[in-house]
Amino acid sequence: MTTGKNYIGNQLSAKGSKTFKTFNPELNKENDVVYTEASSEEIETALALASAAFLEFRTIPGVKKAKFLNAIADEILALGDELITTYCAESGLPQGRAEGERGRTIGQLKSFANLVVAGSWVEATIDTAQPNREPMPKSDIRKMLIPLGPVVVFGASNFPLAFSTAGGDTAAALAAGCPVIVKSHPMHAGTGELVSSAIIKAAQKTGMPNGVFSNLNSSGIEVGQKLVSHPKVKAVGFTGSIKGGRALLDLAAKREEPIPVLTEMGSINPVVILPKALENRNQQIAKTYAGSITLGSGQFCTNPGLILGIESRELNLFIDSLAQEIIQIKPSCMLHPNINKGYHKNKKTIISQDKVQLIANYTQEIKDNYPAQAIVKVNGADFLQNNKLHLEVFGPFSMVVVCKDAEQLATVIANLEGQLTGTIISDNDEISKYTSVISALQNRVGRIIFNGVPTGVEVCESMVHGGPYPASSDSRFSSVGVSSIKRWVRPFSFQDWPNELLPKELQNSNPLNIVRSVDGKVSKQKIE
Ligand code: NAP
Repeated sequence: MTTGKNYIGNQLSAKGSKTFKTFNPELNKENDVVYTEASSEEIETALALASAAFLEFRTIPGVKKAKFLNAIADEILALGDELITTYCAESGLPQGRAEGERGRTIGQLKSFANLVVAGSWVEATIDTAQPNREPMPKSDIRKMLIPLGPVVVFGASNFPLAFSTAGGDTAAALAAGCPVIVKSHPMHAGTGELVSSAIIKAAQKTGMPNGVFSNLNSSGIEVGQKLVSHPKVKAVGFTGSIKGGRALLDLAAKREEPIPVLTEMGSINPVVILPKALENRNQQIAKTYAGSITLGSGQFCTNPGLILGIESRELNLFIDSLAQEIIQIKPSCMLHPNINKGYHKNKKTIISQDKVQLIANYTQEIKDNYPAQAIVKVNGADFLQNNKLHLEVFGPFSMVVVCKDAEQLATVIANLEGQLTGTIISDNDEISKYTSVISALQNRVGRIIFNGVPTGVEVCESMVHGGPYPASSDSRFSSVGVSSIKRWVRPFSFQDWPNELLPKELQNSNPLNIVRSVDGKVSKQKIE
């Protein structure tokens, strides 16, 4: 049952005076539970607890952290139907999606548990001493990754489970040894509270320090701003709009001690369709893309918002097919009236731009909080001249850019902002003739896809979910997959440190049996 309170460490608490409710977009009415925004005092307490908890949590062995992460997964499953019904009532998303996202969340937690049990993720690197080196003796230097400290995680509106309370950012930070303070997303505060109760139960069952996790409610930007500005916070994880992410980056940069803000923000995910592919399977590509553009009401960061092709009869036929396919798809509910409003506003902004042609627009009657999907068309030269056309329209919308030739296509790509993904649809060996297009695309994105769709992000070690700004604030990291743990750690060296005082990962006998680099050789061997 949800109480509407915050979790300040292990305690439920509601000392604030500002309250709010979540909204059921499918029923177009508020849900019943009243949530209380965290007060300044509660923020202070949560951070003091997190700071104290860090001193113990940072040294907890991987096996014990794994028990905690696995217990969170078990406790989330134990929430049963209540979690699924709350999720659906707060997001308008269907039950199947809720169950799928729960599975993904649990899978992420377990993969981080496996990672910390195996232990080699700390990248232990040892250069042994050379006392007889001439002209100067060489010290013994040993390096590994260590946690940054308390991390603030902003829950994402479009993934109430997998990118929110116990989502990828939280799982990665806990695995790294960082306490987490979640700034719950106000659209799904109930889902957030239920998942928080699972995390707290797991923390208590596995003997974690009080303050290893807190969950703060808010329905405005103040709580988030206080958290990002607070000296006890050492890093921030965020998924959402460019405007919100950028505001947090700027705020963190102004602190006396600037801190990393790892944001995953807007992306329009360019898709390049090469001429032969259009010639051979125009209809099939149109059908596939109509499905991808409208999947989940287009509310994915990997939604294909930009389709690029070279002027031809086949490209025109494709545009016609895409228009026909997309209007046959029944719209589905958006997450919240504000997201729906944002969709209509941004769609209108694009449609009202000079030289933009509306190719398809769903015109049948739709319910409140449902979007009308649309496709627009513009030529390459006009796209290059008007930056407003690069705007992310978060929802079931895509723009086809008709380029005059391959050179203009490469120029359009080179002038895009950073993106999460880029896709090439190609037939036979035609891709080899487009090296400048491929090169331009690789320079702008974090992941390149061949003959597929960008929607659907596999959670695995080799996945990169990130990209040049503004797809993410730091293109060196992925926010999906176990490598995302690297966002919450820093390298640290011990010089000539007594063996028995070193962390186990760096001791001569390699008691954790992890993979290490010793004097340039990678192995699990002991140092004699
Ligand atoms: P958002 O407006 O960026 O908000 C995300 C979170 O950040 C919320 O918890 C919000 O707090 C907080 N926040 C926003 N601006 C802030 C600021 N200046 N200072 C401190 N905290 C701030 O995103 P959203 O609410 O999820 O959705 C709004 C729009 O973002 C969507 O319509 C869509 O265009 C875009 N979006 C994009 C993606 C993507 O993956 N590309 C994902 C989600 C959303 P409060 O809500 O409490 O104010």
